[in-house]
Order: sequence, then C-alpha cells, then structure tokens
Amino acid sequence: MDLLKLSQKPVTSWHDDFLGVAYRYYDLRMNVVPLFTDRKDAADLWNKTIHWWVDPSIKIRFVESGDKYWFIMAAETKNPDSNRSFYKVLAKSENYERFKNGHDGEAYLRLGVYSKKYFKDVKGDAICNCGHEKEDHDDEDERHDCLYEDCNCEKFESFQVNLLKKKKTVTDIKFLDESEVKDDAIAWNCLNKNKYNESNQ
Ligand SMILES: [Zn+2]
Ligand SMILES: [Zn+2]
Repeated sequence: MDLLKLSQKPVTSWHDDFLGVAYRYYDLRMNVVPLFTDRKDAADLWNKTIHWWVDPSIKIRFVESGDKYWFIMAAETKNPDSNRSFYKVLAKSENYERFKNGHDGEAYLRLGVYSKKYFKDVKGDAICNCGHEKEDHDDEDERHDCLYEDCNCEKFESFQVNLLKKKKTVTDIKFLDESEVKDDAIAWNCLNKNKYNESNQ
C-alpha cells in the first residue's frame, strides 16, 4: 500500500549534507538529533523544510549493513516546494544501539549544533573523547595529554551538542537489514538512488 502511494508521489531530493546524528534522552523521550556545525544553517533548514512536515507522516529508517547503518528520514509536507529527504551512512555506535533498544516506537526529532570543546572550555568533570575526565589530563602540558598510562590520548578534546528547541514527534521508526529494504518504500527509494544506482544522482 505504502509502495503504491509512493510510486505516484516521487520522493523529493536526497541530502546528506549534515554531520551525523546524535541520540539523546531528554523530555521523557529519546531524541533523534541530526547534527550541524552552524546554528543558523540548522535553524534555516528547520524553518524551510522540517517545520512543514506532517508529524504522523515522518518516517525514520535505520538500514544496517555490517558495522555501518544508513540513517534515512523523509516525510510528507504542507510545502512541497521546499521539501527534502535526508540520509547519512554512519558507523554503529553505543548511542545508536541504546536508541535502537530504548526508543519504544516513538522519538522526538530535533536539530543539534555540534561544537568541539578544548581543555580551557570545560569543567573538571567534562569527559574527553578518550573517555577520561578533564581532571585526568595534564594541566601543565600545553596539549593536555591523558594521564592514564594505558590511554593513548595526546590531547584533551571533547564535544558538545546543543539542541534547538523546536521538535516534531516521530512515530514511524523502523530498523531494517539491508536485505529487507525492498519491502520498505522509503528505504528502497533512498538506497536505490544513493547506493545501487550511483550514476543516477
Ligand atoms: Zn583524553
Ligand atoms: Zn584518556
């Protein structure tokens, strides 16, 4: 049925020009957070495209392929001229697995701004990308390498995600294996366009 509807209404253009996706537990629900480096870019995209999406029509698909997965997101819109669909090929992560196991069929969609933070930017209990706290890094050395001898971190570096306030509720979330994409209209459209048929872009 879904497939029939889609064949009459072609999916809009696919875009992967964002950094990645964060998964955060906030406001009693898991949040799926596509990440951008620039706050204004994210806000513009929300206002032009996502704002017009019809909440119950928003579909998010996760297509797993080895240690990677495709994040796929598309929706019907009240403003077809500015519609876009999104995808990104990402490495599976702990947060991804946590989302997969904990989302319970529903999530908030929000956009996020990703920024790097260095030693001077954060408090003592901030966690470095190596997994150890700021306090476990050398505060005299300029590079602030990690003091755990079995850690090969040579420079304190952390990141922060700031979530934009606006959100949509997503209730159509599916995890698929790549062998199953033919049965899912959105996932099939995305992989067909962006993977199997690369010359068609
Ligand atoms: Zn470190
Ligand atoms: Zn470390």
